Amino acid sequence: MIKFALVCHEGHEFESWFQNGAAFDRQADSGLILCPNCGSAKVAKAIMAPALASRSAAEPSPAQSTAPAEGAAPVALLQERDHELRAMINELRTRIFTDTDNVGAHFFEEASKIHQGLAPERPIHGLASFEEARALLDEGVGILPIPPAPADYN
Ligand SMILES: [Zn+2]
Repeated sequence: MIKFALVCHEGHEFESWFQNGAAFDRQADSGLILCPNCGSAKVAKAIMAPALASRSAAEPSPAQSTAPAEGAAPVALLQERDHELRAMINELRTRIFTDTDNVGAHFFEEASKIHQGLAPERPIHGLASFEEARALLDEGVGILPIPPAPADYN
């Protein structure tokens, strides 16, 4: 069993247990996972935001870094005393959600358009599947997973 932090296209966050990653994909594709807040079936495992406005030249682009193991995601171990780090994560999340355009479930299309110069360049956030995120990273689009709120782990 594996617990995923999920978010619907309205931005409601919740958690659910699944037998494995494939079980999540099957249930999500079939519209079986519903947001407990609004009943939306547009639910994704991760929220992705491109770092279009903030990526510095010194940072290696995701496309150039070594590929992580299949299904791997960045993790951090935070203790109760790491309240400053928790506050920073909350601050980061707030900034992302307020300072970037919410494109909801259209993240993949919009990020692709921005990358191809077909849409105005700007920071956006929205929902992307693992496959969509991988495809964008392969194209050299600088996207970042948004960390779940630290309170989600409690
Ligand atoms: Zn919802």
